[in-house]
Formats: sequence, C-alpha cells, structure tokens
Amino acid sequence: MDLDDRGVVVACGQCGQKNRFAYERLGDAVRCGKCKAMLPAPAAPIDVDSSAHFDRLIAMSSLPVVVDYWAPWCGPCRMVAPELQKVAARQAGKYLIVKVNTDVLADLGERFSIRSIPTMAVFAGGREVGRTAGARPANEIDAFVQQAAQKVQSTK
Ligand SMILES: [Zn+2]
Repeated sequence: MDLDDRGVVVACGQCGQKNRFAYERLGDAVRCGKCKAMLPAPAAPIDVDSSAHFDRLIAMSSLPVVVDYWAPWCGPCRMVAPELQKVAARQAGKYLIVKVNTDVLADLGERFSIRSIPTMAVFAGGREVGRTAGARPANEIDAFVQQAAQKVQSTK
C-alpha cells in the first residue's frame, strides 16, 4: 500500500491491479477496476513516503488518521509496531494508520514538534486532535484514538 496525491493505492488481492481509495472517501467500499472484486479496507499501517502526500492525506481524509512517528533505531518504536498492526487490522475502515519515519521525513518531525519517539497523534478534519508519547499496547492505542476522535465529534 502506498499514498499518492489522491489516495491510498492498493493492489487487488485477486488480479494484482492497482486501485485507489480516494482520501475524501476512505471508509467507502471499493471494487477492483479490472476484476470487480471487493477490495478490503486498508488493514495495516502505511509508510508515508513524502511530506506532500502526508499533507494531502491529513487535509482530505474522511477518516481519522493515526500517525506513528518512529525511527528504525528506536527500541520502543519496534515494540509499538506489532501493536499498531493489531489496531489497524481491528479498525480497518474506521481509521487509517500511517507511519512517519522521522529520520527520513525530518521536516514533518520538526513541523509538528516531535520531541521524543514513539509519539502517536490523531488527526481529524485536517487538524491534530490528540497526541501521546511512549509505547502503548493495542488496547490503549485503541482507547486513545477513540477518545481523540470523539472529542472532534462532540465539538461539531
Ligand atoms: Zn482485481
């Protein structure tokens, strides 16, 4: 899975054709453009490859976006990775989970003032609505994201 200017690009499990979940319609059902198979909602964390794609996602996403700021040398980050996998699988179609390597995308780390890793943040409606630092098990990540996302709904 990859991010591009317009959405999450996913290869069809049946025929391999690349399809796009548009950012502004994440959470909607998508059929493969070639073989018409139903494509499952993204159920794993996605690596962010550029800050431009990150900005598009945050600005346009119809789902809350959970961002994991991490780096390969960080031990606690490696503990968080499998927990995030679990959350992504459980919450497929409800949140999108992305990973920002702050060594590669140092500009994002700087712009969002990430002082320690791992740090997790929730974005909804184009802005950050929650942040927590340190490793967490899947259940606590779930609770944190739900709380942050609810805060947005209640202020609407
Ligand atoms: Zn297909």
